[in-house]
Amino acid sequence: MKSIASELAYFLRGRARQNLKLLLTYCAFLIGLILIYATIFRVLMLHLEGREFTMIAGIYWTITVMTTLGFGDITFHTDLGYIFATLVTVSGVIFLLIILPFGMVSLFIAPWIEDRLRHAHRRDLPEDTSGHVVVFGVDPVTQSFMRRLKARHIPFVAVTGDLQQAQLLAEETGFKVVYGSPTEPKILDGLRIAAARQVIANLSDPENTNICLAVRARCNTPVTAIVDDPEHVGLMRLAGASQTIPLKKILGNYLATRSTTCGVQAHVLDTFGALLIAEIAVHGTPFVGQTLAQAQIRQRTGLAVIGIWNRGRFSLPQAETILDDKDLMLLAGTRQQLDAMEELTGEQPAEDLVFILGHGRIGCAAAHFLDKRPVPFILVDREINPNCEDHIPVIGDATTPQILRQLRVNEARGVIITTNDDSTNVFLTLNSRHLNPNIRIVARANHEENVEQLYSAGADFVVSNASVGASILSNAIERKETIFLTEGIGIFLRPLPPGLDGKTILESRLRPQTGCSIVAMIPNERGHIIVSPAPETTLTTKMDLLFIGTPAQEETFDRLYPRPASS
Ligand code: AMP
Ligand code: ZN
Repeated sequence: MKSIASELAYFLRGRARQNLKLLLTYCAFLIGLILIYATIFRVLMLHLEGREFTMIAGIYWTITVMTTLGFGDITFHTDLGYIFATLVTVSGVIFLLIILPFGMVSLFIAPWIEDRLRHAHRRDLPEDTSGHVVVFGVDPVTQSFMRRLKARHIPFVAVTGDLQQAQLLAEETGFKVVYGSPTEPKILDGLRIAAARQVIANLSDPENTNICLAVRARCNTPVTAIVDDPEHVGLMRLAGASQTIPLKKILGNYLATRSTTCGVQAHVLDTFGALLIAEIAVHGTPFVGQTLAQAQIRQRTGLAVIGIWNRGRFSLPQAETILDDKDLMLLAGTRQQLDAMEELTGEQPAEDLVFILGHGRIGCAAAHFLDKRPVPFILVDREINPNCEDHIPVIGDATTPQILRQLRVNEARGVIITTNDDSTNVFLTLNSRHLNPNIRIVARANHEENVEQLYSAGADFVVSNASVGASILSNAIERKETIFLTEGIGIFLRPLPPGLDGKTILESRLRPQTGCSIVAMIPNERGHIIVSPAPETTLTTKMDLLFIGTPAQEETFDRLYPRPASS
């Protein structure tokens, strides 16, 4: 009963109320028309055919003719009568069978269904909701991030101002979705922001600034804002963002570090205190073709090789693993040890040239990165980038057959393919490989599902916007206890579980029990970091442990060794 009343109440609000008035006016017009026809019917019948009918019979005849029912029990027998009956039928078809249903659908049914759908995604979160992540703005990055939250059983809600997207997302992913604008106070209150664990702002820079201000006006819930233009970082902080992520700049840097074909520089992914987790390309180092045992990286630099990436696949290193030209090594160690590594890998060769196909924000960031090295590069884009005053690109569609050939891509060492369209990126990967079999191709995947296709097309490294963005966001909410390296592998820090103090790593049986390997032991007060500790190293509560493992292994660890609530 209550729901019927609330549905009826819809027709008395706002636009629906105006439309209702319109409908009543139209009905009044129809009644008037029927009365006029009925009167004319009676007059014609009396004067043409000498038959007298009551007004009720006149209305009955008009309605049966207008609705095309025409029972045939009352009919004219004169030409004028036929003409009148035809006129009544035609106007009935137009006014009753065409205009009325069309008006009902467009003015009532469609807006009513839309309103219902809108309300389906407008419900306030339950009163007891807390510890949830509120994500403003749904794109491949936040979608990938939310999939990770789901896998880790962290509650979250996505907010979007696009009704169709809200419906699709809820249907296809089962995510909790709220339809609304972040500037609506009612929406913010309904999201229970004050009880939330984290707010992620992933809209345009001005909208993100608004979100920061609106959240700050209510509570202290941390806000992580993805910033489009790195120059807006300060503004966003002023508005109250606890963390700002210039994602496109980071992606540009990721692409650029992987593209340089010259001497090798490590790219720091993250830090745990003084311990750095970094990547370094094998290409250009003296280690190409050697096994890890032969390379003696640990003995020469103190760094631990904790993983190897080969064309997007991650593996844990073994002594006999051969270092391929296309590999990336994942390293753990201190700044000094990384410096020692960079020294060992030598100077950059004088001749180098990198193509950057796509001069949007990400391509521009990659260009800035190469500028600093300095590595010469050629930019190609269909249009001028209005946000960049530092670079002069070659203007043209990179997919046109001659352009890359004319620019002599065959002489380049590397190419960064970074347009906003994945099929264009696949095409450019194929074409670059065709024109220059030895070129180092670093391609950007705008959607995670296209990563494999880019590798198949011949890319050496694929950087997925969604994966990188989601990893950074995950780090933000995990308070840096975990780094997601790639989809199935992460690094996480834990204090020594009780009961293991004084045991050696071998005796602790941590690896056989959980599957996780210890990457490093990090002192929780003062002392030296021990990277890749030997099995006979003694465990102590003074050292936290840094593990590498899959999310499932991490969960096993936490199940076997639950952490005290305070940590
Ligand atoms: P962003 O997503 O901000 O990195 O921008 C992507 C850039 O790729 C834009 O500047 C586009 O103009 C550019 N772009 C897209 N398709 C092509 C193409 N076929 N050739 C050259 N540039 C392209
Ligand atoms: Zn630029």
